[in-house]
Amino acid sequence: MTNSTSLLSAWQQLRNRSITCEEALNVLIDQEGMLKLHLLDPEVSQRFFREFPDRDILPPIIPLLLWRNCYYLASPVSISEDMIKVMSDRSFSDIKIVPVDEKSYSSWFHTQHLDPTRISAMPLVNPLTGELERENVSETTELYLSKAVDQIERIKTLLSGALRNRASDIHLEPFKDCLKIRYRIDGILRKITTLSPEVGRKVIVALKVMSNMDIAESRRPQDGRIGENYAGGKGSNQGLDMRVSVLPCVWGEKAVIRLLPEENPFTDLHNLGFASQALDIYKKLLHQPQGMIIFTGPTGSGKTSTLYTSLMNVATEDINVVTVEDPVEYVLPGITQTQVHERAGMTLAAGLRAILRQDPDVIMVGEIRDRETADTAVRAALTGHLVLTTLHTNDALGAIPRLKDIGPDPGLISDALLGIVGQRLVRKICSYCAAQYTPTEQELSVLGLEKAQIDLSTFRKGKGCANCFKTGYSGREAIVELLDLDDISRQIIYDGTMTQLYRYLQERGYISFRWAAIDKVTTGVTTVEEVQRVVPYSALIRKQ
Ligand SMILES: [Zn+2]
Repeated sequence: MTNSTSLLSAWQQLRNRSITCEEALNVLIDQEGMLKLHLLDPEVSQRFFREFPDRDILPPIIPLLLWRNCYYLASPVSISEDMIKVMSDRSFSDIKIVPVDEKSYSSWFHTQHLDPTRISAMPLVNPLTGELERENVSETTELYLSKAVDQIERIKTLLSGALRNRASDIHLEPFKDCLKIRYRIDGILRKITTLSPEVGRKVIVALKVMSNMDIAESRRPQDGRIGENYAGGKGSNQGLDMRVSVLPCVWGEKAVIRLLPEENPFTDLHNLGFASQALDIYKKLLHQPQGMIIFTGPTGSGKTSTLYTSLMNVATEDINVVTVEDPVEYVLPGITQTQVHERAGMTLAAGLRAILRQDPDVIMVGEIRDRETADTAVRAALTGHLVLTTLHTNDALGAIPRLKDIGPDPGLISDALLGIVGQRLVRKICSYCAAQYTPTEQELSVLGLEKAQIDLSTFRKGKGCANCFKTGYSGREAIVELLDLDDISRQIIYDGTMTQLYRYLQERGYISFRWAAIDKVTTGVTTVEEVQRVVPYSALIRKQ
C-alpha cells in the first residue's frame, strides 16, 4: 500500500495504461465480490450520474470504470435488459454489469450520502432492504474518516460514530507512532482506529480550539465544553453537550470527550430492567402520596437513570416536582431542578428546607450524607411528600443501618420508609450471536440453584460477532433488588436487629438480587458470568 500507483484510482491506473481493463476490474472487486472503495474514482460516478438528474429511476449500481465508451457498473442485484438499454441510451455508451456484494454496495451508498460537516446519530439503513444495518464500527469509522477533508470533519465523524453506537466517551490517546481512538460503549473501552501522529496532533489542536482552550498551552491539563447540534434518531435536531479534557502525557496530549446528549432518555420505566413483578410493586410505591424511597448502588450502577425516569413518570401537570442535586446531571422537562452551591450557602439541607416552603408534592434529594439533610428529608416524607433519594451502600438492606448511622430517629425512619431499590447494570447478551447453552453445575450453584429446579433450555450465551466486538454482549440494563416494607418489617426496623429483619424477609420473600439474577439469566437476558461480575457476592450467597 505504500507504492505510489496504489494511491491512484483504478480508473487512473487504467488510463495510464499501467493496468488493463480486466486488471482494473479485478483490483476493484475481489473474488468474494467485495469492492475496494478507496480505489474508486469519483469522476466516473459524476460523469455517469450527470446523465440522470432523475437518479431515483436507477437500480442499485456503482459506476466503476469508463473505458472505450463502455460504463462498467457494479450491482448487487440482477439488472433487466430494458434497464440496461435505458442506461445505455441515456449515456450514449455501452453498459456492462459486474456483480458486487450487497455489503459493499451498502457501504458505498452510505459514503455517497455522508455529510461529514454534520454530526449525526442516525442509524445506518440498508439501502436494499430498508432494514437497520448491523454496523462494524471500526470499518465504517475508517471509511468515513477517509472522506473527511479537515480536522473539524474528522472530529464530527468520530462524534457521529460514537453517537450511533451509544458510546458515552471518546478517548484520543497519543503514542509514539499513532493517535489511538477508543469509544466507551456499554461501560467498556473499545479500540476503534488510529490516526497518524501528524494528523492526530492536528485533531487534538482543533478539539482544543472547539472547546475554547488555550492552544499555546500544552504542558498543563485543561478542560472545556462544546455545545453542538446533531441529527437524532428520527432526523430531528438534538442538542449535544460535550465535556472535553486534555492531559499532557509522554507522546503529546491525551483528550477525552464525554458525550452528554440533551435528548431526554428518561421516559419509560419499562426500559430500566425491572422484572415485571418488581415493576408492579415499584409503581405502587411511586404513586404513594407520602413516604421515602431510597436508591442504592455505586457510581455507574444506573441509579440516576432510575431516579430520573421515576421523576418523569410522577411529574404531571398537577404535581409539583422539585429536586436538589449535586450537580444537576440532566435537565428534565417539567421539573424544577436546583443545584447545590456550598460557597453560596446552598447546601443540600438548605436547598431542601427552601423547597419545602414552596409547597412541593414530590422531592428528590440527590444524596443523603449528613444528619441535617437526613432529618429534614425524613420529616418531609412523614408530612405529605414523596421523597426520593440515594445512599451509597452495597445493597438495599444496607441502606437501613446506614440511615440509622447518619442519625434520624429510628421510629421516624421506619414510619417514613416505603421501599429501597438496589441496582447494578448488567450487559445484555448480543441478540445477533445469542445461542442456547447448558449451564454447568458450578454456574448454577452461583445462583443457589440445582439442575432439577429450573428449565435449562432457557439459558443463552453470545458467541461473539462483529456487532458486539466479539464479546457476546450488547447494551446494558439494570438488575434490580426491591425491598418493599410492610408493617412487620417497619416494626423490626424500629426495635429489632438486621438479622431479625433479614430472617423475616427470607420467610416473606422479596425481590432480592439473587431473585432478579435468576430471572435475568433464565429469560436469556444475561449470563451467570455477567451477574457474578457486577452483583456483590454477599448478595448472591444469601438464600431467600
Ligand atoms: Zn454478537
